[in-house]
Amino acid sequence: MTTIVIDPGHGGNDPGATYRNAQEKNYNLSIALKVRDYLQKNHNVNILMTRTSDITKSLNERSSFANVKNADFYLSIHNNAAGGRGFESYIYNGTVSQQTKNYQTIIHNEIMSAVRQKYGITDRGQKRANFHVLRETEMNALLLEVLFVDNEADLKILNNPNFISDVSTAIAKGVAKALSLPAKSPEGVLYKVIAGSFKDRKNAKDRVSFLLSKGIGSFIAPTMITGTQYYRVQAGAFAKKENAEEQVNKIKEIGIPGAFIITEGEEAPPEPEPTPPPTPEELFTINGNTLLHAHQLDDFVRTVNPEAPSLGQYYVSYGKAYGIRGDAAYAQAIHETDYFRFTGLVNKEQNNYAGIGATGPGNPGVSFATPEIGVHAHIQHLYAYSSTNTIPAGFQLVDPRFNLVTRGIAQTWTELNGRWAVPGTTYGQSIISIYRRMLNHTIQELDQQKQTLNDRLDEL
Ligand SMILES: [Zn+2]
Repeated sequence: MTTIVIDPGHGGNDPGATYRNAQEKNYNLSIALKVRDYLQKNHNVNILMTRTSDITKSLNERSSFANVKNADFYLSIHNNAAGGRGFESYIYNGTVSQQTKNYQTIIHNEIMSAVRQKYGITDRGQKRANFHVLRETEMNALLLEVLFVDNEADLKILNNPNFISDVSTAIAKGVAKALSLPAKSPEGVLYKVIAGSFKDRKNAKDRVSFLLSKGIGSFIAPTMITGTQYYRVQAGAFAKKENAEEQVNKIKEIGIPGAFIITEGEEAPPEPEPTPPPTPEELFTINGNTLLHAHQLDDFVRTVNPEAPSLGQYYVSYGKAYGIRGDAAYAQAIHETDYFRFTGLVNKEQNNYAGIGATGPGNPGVSFATPEIGVHAHIQHLYAYSSTNTIPAGFQLVDPRFNLVTRGIAQTWTELNGRWAVPGTTYGQSIISIYRRMLNHTIQELDQQKQTLNDRLDEL
């Protein structure tokens, strides 16, 4: 059987191109999963993924994986950034087979004819480049750049679920055409027995273990149902409906009343799931102690942007004065300003590190006279969200939008989702993820220093 490796670009610590709240890695993943689903549903093909969730994977891990698996085709899915708009495809700019060139042409054209007119997509053409995943993979390999994350018009299209669905289908059809994948036969309907369908993979795993303890074999079959990822537990597939019904009864007898049958390709209603308890991330408050020192904040940001201004001292001192986690607020500033490189709406001269009042193109938000006032306003704006108290004695009101906030509406960073950033379902999580990196970086630095001090002691 033909083996295809689908590689959703970036992931985990590496967001890829970012623009405002858009992160390349998320678009890459949702397209890749849809391409996989389409191919698996309609063709006899072995699909392997370099990632199926938001995890960090190096380029080496990706190319080695495909080589070890002896894949026939490698498909990497990315979005573009930094000047321009539209779609382009890449093959390696060194020696490639005629087959690779043919694949590029077939897949590129299939995608373009499906979306160019419908969504007004610019065709940037078939290109060649020295990308790692194209160079280091030993099979035919193609990389797609699906629109520009940092182009307003393209971003709007990327945020349209119909486009994501259409482009994914077109990519899958192009791949099937190029590789002549055999279609699944329409006859021979299978009756699959589903012993649970969960949003949380862990619950699905628990169900598989439970079934096994009762002597019933099953496996997890991930599936997308109206845009949501579910993990179905499939306990058998039968050509005869009676046999499937018999299996369902057996499963009901061991205490799973929700077991049901689906015929292949049919979407089943998901089982209701109890609401999970809040995660530590969701409980992490805005108010609290500042643990990191000013120079540790500045040191961290300079690992990414050596030109970053020295704002650590202000975040620490104003954080402490207002009882806000100044170090986590600093992580928020990093998120808002892209490590103080100001690649979004707000520009450097505004000293607005929290995007206060920045609502869209042509509306970059407020400006502050000095960096210190900018930080103070940021902390004050957080204070408006996290507390109902008055401004601490001795401080002036410097945040012009302080009184527009419903006081005390967000106690945690994740409660800022959809409030500080609209829309936004991952805003607080992004801040905490940066904060976690700051803590890790500082721990490493301290370990290093400890080693140096020990060496010195040893010398004396
Ligand atoms: Zn990329």
